[in-house]
Amino acid sequence: MQASGSWKALLLRTGISLAELLRAAGPTFLKHRAVLLKLAEHIDVRSPFFVQLRRAQTRVLMLDYDGTLAPFTPDRTRAYPYREIPATVSKIMRCNTRVVLISGRPATELLFLSSIHPHPEIWGSHGAERLYSDGSYEVESPEPRQRTGLQKADDALQSAGLAARMENKPGAIAVHWRGLAQDERTRIEQKLRHLAGPIIEQYELQLLPFDGGLEIRGIARNKGDAVNAILAEAGKGVAAAYLGDDQTDENAFRAIKGHGLAVLVRTEPRPTMADVWLHPPDELIHFLREWLAACGEEK
Ligand SMILES: [Mg+2]
Repeated sequence: MQASGSWKALLLRTGISLAELLRAAGPTFLKHRAVLLKLAEHIDVRSPFFVQLRRAQTRVLMLDYDGTLAPFTPDRTRAYPYREIPATVSKIMRCNTRVVLISGRPATELLFLSSIHPHPEIWGSHGAERLYSDGSYEVESPEPRQRTGLQKADDALQSAGLAARMENKPGAIAVHWRGLAQDERTRIEQKLRHLAGPIIEQYELQLLPFDGGLEIRGIARNKGDAVNAILAEAGKGVAAAYLGDDQTDENAFRAIKGHGLAVLVRTEPRPTMADVWLHPPDELIHFLREWLAACGEEK
C-alpha cells in the first residue's frame, strides 16, 4: 500500500492499529518499518487471531503456493514445497480445518507438485478452476469473444518467439521471465505489451502483473474473488487466514480484511495490505504449528 495520507492525518485517526499505521507509511520507511511491523504484528493482530482460532467452530486456511509454500526455482516444474510443508498441512487438514490452495497455476499442476496427499481443495488459475478434495472439478470458460482474443494473443506471442516463456492455462496465457537478466525481462515485456496490447483492448481481456511475469486473462477472476467465495461458503463464526507472497495476493488480502488474518510470506517485506509478515520457511512453519496447536494438536 502506498502512503495514503500524512503521518499527522493518520495519527488523528482513532482506532488505527500500529501495524496499519506502519504499513501506510510507504516504502520510504521500509527498513525500519520492517522491524516495527514485526513487533507490531505480535502486539496487535496475531495473538487475538489464535485465540479466535482456538474457539472457532469453523476454520479455513487459504494458501498461495509458489513463493509461499514453495521457494521459487528457475524451473517452474520443479517448485517443490519446503520440506516440512506437506506433513504439516496434512495434519492441519485432519484437524478441523478446511485447507484451500489458491494459485495462479492450473489446479492439476499442484496435485503432485505440492506433495500433499490426499490433496486439499485446489482453486487454480486464480479461482477460475476448482478441484475439490473429493476429486470433483469445475472450471469457468471465457466468453467466445475473449476466447478469440486469447487465441490471437497466443498466435502473436508464439510468432514473436516467446513460446518458451509462455504458459497456457484455462482462460489465460502467462508469460514468465523469472530468473532472466533485467534487460531480457524488459525486452520480453516490451514485446508482449506491443504485440498483445491492442488485442487485449479490442477483445476486452485483462493484463495481470505477477512477480515474475505478466498474464493475459480472459476471465475476470482474481484471488480476492476466490477468498470472498470461500468465506461466503464458510458462513459466520469462521476463523480464516490467507497466506501469500505475490502482488496477485493483495486482492486476497483485501478480501479477507475484517474477516480474518492476511499474512505476507516473503523473504523481504514490501508495501502490503497484509496484517502479518512471515519470513519463510522458519516463521511460516512456526505459524502452521501454532495453527495445529490452536486446533488441539501438539506442536
Ligand atoms: Mg505466490
